[in-house]
Amino acid sequence: MFCKNCGKEIDDRAVICPHCGVAVTNDALTPSSGKMNALAIVGFVLSFFVSIAGLICSIIGRKQCNKRGEGGSGLALAGIVISAVGMAIRVIYLFIVIVGVLAAL
Ligand SMILES: [Zn+2]
Repeated sequence: MFCKNCGKEIDDRAVICPHCGVAVTNDALTPSSGKMNALAIVGFVLSFFVSIAGLICSIIGRKQCNKRGEGGSGLALAGIVISAVGMAIRVIYLFIVIVGVLAAL
């Protein structure tokens, strides 16, 4: 890998750069190094309110997480599940309402 401070090639296991002495944090080996995927967060939040928008954002967010090595993949997955459950509940609720209306006729 390369030192982020001086740009020189250093050992992958190096903790401190031998060229400039700056502490090295190996982002390449630890993908979830704090940077969260914004779309995964948006998707997760939306999944509680607007299921379909939450589902779309979460799916795209999860793909971006895996591609860019960003954090939030688990959050995106949670968003997908919550969106799916939310939509299922609405469909069941709608079904119950329709059955109820038909039964009342
Ligand atoms: Zn360096």
